[in-house]
Amino acid sequence: MPGQVAVTEGAFTWPSDSPRLLGSRCTSCNNHMFPAQDGCPRCTGTETERVELGTRGTLWTWTVQGFPPKAPPYIGDDNPLTFKPFGVGYVELPGQCKVEARLTEADPAKLKIGMEMELVFIPLKVDEDGNEIITFAFKPVES
Ligand SMILES: [Zn+2]
Repeated sequence: MPGQVAVTEGAFTWPSDSPRLLGSRCTSCNNHMFPAQDGCPRCTGTETERVELGTRGTLWTWTVQGFPPKAPPYIGDDNPLTFKPFGVGYVELPGQCKVEARLTEADPAKLKIGMEMELVFIPLKVDEDGNEIITFAFKPVES
């Protein structure tokens, strides 16, 4: 039976009622990383542990992807005729790290550096078996 499949293994808890991004934390200097890494680029420590990251942060910088990214590796819609532009940004999770992610908003008038964002999970496309490929994204918090 078709269902929902995570776009990548290990980037977030899935399936889950409240999915979270999975990063890593350096046990020496508390540096947080996403995607998870086994070594710490800040202190060169080699001891890290997997942690679930926060679901809210602020928009650090952003752009709008106005044309289809190169496929592969891009697995979304790469047909220039049907492709819809999407926002891409870095969201800074307080006390943790910056996460590069797709944004649900692609209208430059509605994106502002420093705005509050929350983690959501959205279907990227439907595969040949009818499964929805789920990815993570950040969505502006309605004020
Ligand atoms: Zn470290």
